[in-house]
Amino acid sequence: MLQKKRTGIFFPRFEGQRLKDFPQALADILDKDNVSYYDGVYAANNPYYVKPATEEMLSKVHSRDMIERVKRTGYYEAASYSAGGTIQAALEISQGKIDNAFVFTGFGDHHAGRNHFGGWCYFNGAAVAIAMLKEEGVRRFAIVDTDSHHADGTRDIFRQDKEMLHVCFCFQNYNDENGNVDVAIPYGISDESYVRKMEQEFASRAISFRPEFIFWELGYDATQGEYGDKGISKDCHAKLAKIIKSAADKVCQGRLITILCGGSSRQLATYIIPRVIKQLAQ
Ligand SMILES: [Zn+2]
Ligand SMILES: [Zn+2]
Repeated sequence: MLQKKRTGIFFPRFEGQRLKDFPQALADILDKDNVSYYDGVYAANNPYYVKPATEEMLSKVHSRDMIERVKRTGYYEAASYSAGGTIQAALEISQGKIDNAFVFTGFGDHHAGRNHFGGWCYFNGAAVAIAMLKEEGVRRFAIVDTDSHHADGTRDIFRQDKEMLHVCFCFQNYNDENGNVDVAIPYGISDESYVRKMEQEFASRAISFRPEFIFWELGYDATQGEYGDKGISKDCHAKLAKIIKSAADKVCQGRLITILCGGSSRQLATYIIPRVIKQLAQ
């Protein structure tokens, strides 16, 4: 029997409506022995305090000019905390303190490139975390992206990187020799077809690619009723979690970081996120 995963939940500071039910909605998860909870409340002497990304960290990926432009939006601090959660999750896993993680974010990653941002993404937390893991000698990574929209920022950063497998579920089919893959998700797709695409287009590729870490950009905006509605149900995401986690078990000792990406409904967040975390923490 496999041991339960040690799961870290990273809940830095936020504004906005969609996460208003958290962390209360995690009540029956947070009391489990294999779950650690990191937040942005008490900084002093607290190993579970989520630190914001520093400018030095951000500049491993983003241009100085872009960082300055983000400062002028008024969202710099919140965006640094969102990226900080992912960075800390990556470091905790790399130090063997936890096996996998769920990172709550106020702003997503995947529309933030080296020198541009947009679509409520300011910094690419996954890319910054990967830059830091590379400094520790980790070489191969996979990112799977189930947000409804194309991950133009992530693609911009890793387009030439042969040691990155980037599988993006979006509007087009694309595939090149550098490990850049897009999988078209048609409108009105069933959960079963989406799950099958995850197995065929991500899990099987990841198993032969052999990444040392897997990052999952979990947008729920493709759910019925959301702004990127593709027709999948609110139960689809936990099924995807199971497949991605099982791929991580096969190739990288379960090292998986799930990062909240697009999606706006508070009700859907409160339904989907605890179910995904329960899969991770099994
Ligand atoms: Zn989106
Ligand atoms: Zn794409």
